[in-house]
Amino acid sequence: MTRANSEGSVTVVGLGPGDPRLLTESARAALDAAQDLIGYHPYVARVAEREGLIRHSTDNRVELDRARHALELAVSGRHVAVVSGGDPGVFAMAAALFEAVEHGPRAWRALDIRVEPGITAMLAAAARLGAPLGGDFCALSLSDNLKPWEVVTARLEAVFRAGFAVALYNPISSARPWQLGRALALAAEILPATTPVIFARAVTRPDESVRVLTLAEARTAPADMATMILIGTATTRLIEREGQVPFVYTPRSVAGR
Ligand code: SAH
Repeated sequence: MTRANSEGSVTVVGLGPGDPRLLTESARAALDAAQDLIGYHPYVARVAEREGLIRHSTDNRVELDRARHALELAVSGRHVAVVSGGDPGVFAMAAALFEAVEHGPRAWRALDIRVEPGITAMLAAAARLGAPLGGDFCALSLSDNLKPWEVVTARLEAVFRAGFAVALYNPISSARPWQLGRALALAAEILPATTPVIFARAVTRPDESVRVLTLAEARTAPADMATMILIGTATTRLIEREGQVPFVYTPRSVAGR
């Protein structure tokens, strides 16, 4: 993909879950072509420094400012890469960028704007265990920064009752210490206490840890911001292995088929 030098561009790039080998070639090419790199500082830090690349790292929670900054740079003719962990469309920068475009100056719509997908945490975590998301599943962010907590619980209840496996992003932070406990308590009202729950922390990074628990055990298990939680269904299976984390899979078929 060649781009005219006179016109700027913005590419929102998914960096994958951590291991640089999980960055797509296409994402790497977008990073190599960038003149400006914008993102939350741990993600910017994952991209090697090189001559001709200006790094603009920012704090978390300023996504819209970051998006506008990227678009302004592109208008001035720069080639900008906005980076997110995992996939940029999953609770990350891509939606913030398009929100800025929708509400911003008309000229932003004419810019060359692209999204480079990445391997989202949910898929990297699931792959470690086997196929816990092998049937129907959904993904939810447990953060109530951008939506009311009542909406989070209503959605959780609907997915538990419908029999989806659920990937929970943003399960906990110092500002949101109690939400995960409530979510697991709600799960325990609807699902069997033996339902497998996976706590996958820092998947594909050097400090990775993955635990397979029952729903009953999960309610007291520690988690942090680098943790993703996969809650299985009533049909999710465990295959025990001597001295190793069990395989976990959710069968593709559902009773009646
Ligand atoms: N865009 C990212 C998600 C951003 S939300 C993606 O597609 O993966 C941030 C949340 O993602 C974290 O709180 C955590 O729940 C999860 N997460 C991101 N990277 C992770 C990793 N390597 N291992 C486990 N969970 C991760």
